[in-house]
Amino acid sequence: MRDPSSFLRAEYDDLVKQELDWRLRVLGGASTPWCTVDGRRVLMFCSNNYLGLSNHPKLKEAAIEATKTHGVGSGSVRPIAGNMDLHVELERRLARFKRAEASLVYQTGFAANAGLIPQLAGKGDLIVSDELNHGSIIDGVRLSPAERRVYRHGDADDLSRVLDEAERASPRFRRILVITDGVFSMDGDVAPLDKVAALGAEHGAMVYVDDAHGEGVLGEGGRGIVSHYGLSREKVQVEMGTFSKAFGVVGGHVSGSQDLVSFAYNKSRTWLLSGSHPPAVVAACTAAVGVLEDEPAHVQRLWENTRYFKKAMADLGFDIGKSETPITPVMVGESGAAKRLSARLFEIGVFALPIVYPMVAQGKARIRTIMNAALTREDLDFAIGAFEKAGKELGLLAAKRPH
Ligand SMILES: *Cc1c(COP(=O)(O)O)cnc(C)c1O
Repeated sequence: MRDPSSFLRAEYDDLVKQELDWRLRVLGGASTPWCTVDGRRVLMFCSNNYLGLSNHPKLKEAAIEATKTHGVGSGSVRPIAGNMDLHVELERRLARFKRAEASLVYQTGFAANAGLIPQLAGKGDLIVSDELNHGSIIDGVRLSPAERRVYRHGDADDLSRVLDEAERASPRFRRILVITDGVFSMDGDVAPLDKVAALGAEHGAMVYVDDAHGEGVLGEGGRGIVSHYGLSREKVQVEMGTFSKAFGVVGGHVSGSQDLVSFAYNKSRTWLLSGSHPPAVVAACTAAVGVLEDEPAHVQRLWENTRYFKKAMADLGFDIGKSETPITPVMVGESGAAKRLSARLFEIGVFALPIVYPMVAQGKARIRTIMNAALTREDLDFAIGAFEKAGKELGLLAAKRPH
C-alpha cells in the first residue's frame, strides 16, 4: 500500500537539494552580546533583541514575581476566563507609552496581523499593500475576501496611482485599507509613512502600519514610526507591533482609538480563540515598556553603535545598501558567497546569517546584521575586524588601488 505520508520526506529532500532548508542553530543560554551558538562562543549580530532587553534584570524579575503571584498559565482565552489584571495593566501602560487612546495585546505579531486584517477589510473592500510587506501581513490579507492591489516598494507615487484607480472603480469599493511595514526587515529602509498617511487621508482610506522593526528603535524614546514622523492618529488609524523584537519578550499589539480596540478584540479570531499570555510574559512586557520610559540610554546606545558600525563598514569598502536603521545588510551578491562569508564569520566568532533567494531577489544575497545596544566599542571593533578579514579572504573587498 502507498504510504500517504511519503511526500513529507520527498519534499524535505527537495528543499535540502535546493539548499532551501533551515539548519537550526542552538543557543546555549541567554541571547546576550557574547553568547554560545552550537557550542561556540560568538558575538551575536543577528538577533532582533535590539536593546538587549531579553536578558534585562527588571524584566526577569517581573517575570519571576508574576509567576509567584499569578502562576504559569492564564487558564483560558481572554474573553472567557483568561483576562488577568496583568493583561489589562500591560495594555494601559502600552497605550500611555504609544500616546494612543487604547492598545490591545495579541499572542504574537503574526496573530495580530492574521486576526485583524481580514476583519478590517472584507467583501466589497480593497486592500492596498507594499510589495515587500512581511509574510504575516500577506497571510492576513489572504484570509480576507477583499480585493488586493500591490504598490511598488516604498513608492508613494505608485500608491497614489493605485488609489486613483481604485477611486474610479465600479462598483465603488466600500472601504479601502492601506498596509505597510514601518521598517522593512531585509533592507532596513523606512516606509514613507508621512506620504502614505497623506494619501490615505486624501482618498478616505484607513492606514495600517506594522512597526515590528521600528519600535524601540525609531521615534521619541523608541516610540516607533508614528512618533518618528510626528503623525496624527487620525491619519494612521492602526499602529501594529510586537513585543518579540526590541521589547525582548513575545507578543503582538495594536494601538489606536478605543473604537479600534473594541472592534479588534470582538472580531479577531486569533485573539478570541487562542489562549492568552502567561503571567510571566505579560509582566515582562510591562517591565519592558517601563524600561523604555525610564532608561532612554538604551535607544541612544543603539543608534551610536549603528552609526559607528555603518561608517566603519562603508570605509572598508563594503556595500551596506540603503538602510536607515540598525538593520545593516552587507551586500554580497551570489547566495553561495553569502553563505561562505557567514560560515567564515562564525569561525572567527561573529554570528550573522546570510539572507538569500527566495527571501531576497537572485543576485541580492547578503549578510543581514542587526545592531544591539548592549555591544561595546570593543565588540564592534572585533566584528568589523572579522568582516574585514573574511571579506578579504573571500575576495569581497577589492584591494584598494594605490594612489
Ligand atoms: C517579526 C515581524 C512580525 C511578527 O511578529 P511576532 O510577534 O514575532 O509574531 C510581524 N511583522 C513584521 C514586519 C515583523 O518583522
